[in-house]
Amino acid sequence: MLHISYGWTWPALFAPTHFQKIVTRRSWKDSHAKKFKKGMVVKAIDKDFRAGGKEIGKVKILEAPYKQPLSEMTIKDYFHEGFAFMNLHSELVPKSMKIGVDIAGFNQWKKSGESMYVVHYEILELIERPFKLKEVEDAICLGCCQRQEELTTDLFPRNWMAVDYTHNVGVCSGCKEYLPRLEGLYGEEGMFLEGRLTTQL
Ligand SMILES: [Zn+2]
Repeated sequence: MLHISYGWTWPALFAPTHFQKIVTRRSWKDSHAKKFKKGMVVKAIDKDFRAGGKEIGKVKILEAPYKQPLSEMTIKDYFHEGFAFMNLHSELVPKSMKIGVDIAGFNQWKKSGESMYVVHYEILELIERPFKLKEVEDAICLGCCQRQEELTTDLFPRNWMAVDYTHNVGVCSGCKEYLPRLEGLYGEEGMFLEGRLTTQL
């Protein structure tokens, strides 16, 4: 069975659904990328087997991986790549990680000039979460992807227009147009709906 080595952001596979990592970008050779076909089930491993990696679950490839310049990533990818989750749980960021998980780090990665294979997949199964998830009294703005601290120390300080500290999402005063998307995460009773941000961003 083929495998995908997730590397730095593997903990985000274990995130709550709306922060879960559902796409990964790999620097694969063309010949390697071609082995991955739509519908194929592959092993998810935390890091390369040669570096002591172990299986953390199984994923199903949703479409053949395609090469794309990192510059074409959108704000959706900040969430879907697992950066938003890693930013909230910085204790899970591996020391070897060379890019920042805040929006500045993401944008720097985006501007690196590289092209990578984009892999969309569905998570079929995961081992039991191998770490304890800390409770975080913080949130990430769905528009600018900044955390509370970043909003207040910025050159143009902003505050929350709406914030949910339980689910760690909010919309800041600079991102009013994202309010409907935040509202879309809640049902009629105001209950948080478990689901991906996919349709919300
Ligand atoms: Zn914002």
